[in-house]
Amino acid sequence: MEYKKQYIPPSPQKRPQIKLLYPKYLTIHSNESEQGTAQKEHDFLVKKGNNKMFSFHIVVDDTMAIECVPLTEVAWHAGDGRGDGNMKSLSILICQAKDKKKAWRNAAILAAQILVAKNWSIEQIVQHYYWNRKDCPSILREENKWELWLDEVVKEMANLQKIP
Ligand SMILES: [Zn+2]
Repeated sequence: MEYKKQYIPPSPQKRPQIKLLYPKYLTIHSNESEQGTAQKEHDFLVKKGNNKMFSFHIVVDDTMAIECVPLTEVAWHAGDGRGDGNMKSLSILICQAKDKKKAWRNAAILAAQILVAKNWSIEQIVQHYYWNRKDCPSILREENKWELWLDEVVKEMANLQKIP
């Protein structure tokens, strides 16, 4: 999986440049669009006329991840105003455009990397639903997919933490 930093320009609606002082959650989202690759979701954030207060730190699909907002800044993604969802959490948008399973897998790898880097535990990953009861990430909220996905994250964390 390719990882690139392609920061969106500062703006009150998308990148308010508020310092993310004490991050302690990783919030997971998924998109709905069949056309929404990571690149397209990034481009949508900077599209003229898109003035919604909505953005993500990282968007990921079946081939790549794009960091849209620096991980040291607040992004508006949780729908809870100045609550902990926005003010204390990083966000990943899973883009379901092409190979959903692969996107799901890449997101698990990415989440594991963030947790290990920050020395966080699996309990610090939450669904968007946790903050404002939105049905998101819908891709993982059906059946028992969320538990299966968390298992993948835990496995990936163990791989990363293996002593050589
Ligand atoms: Zn969401």
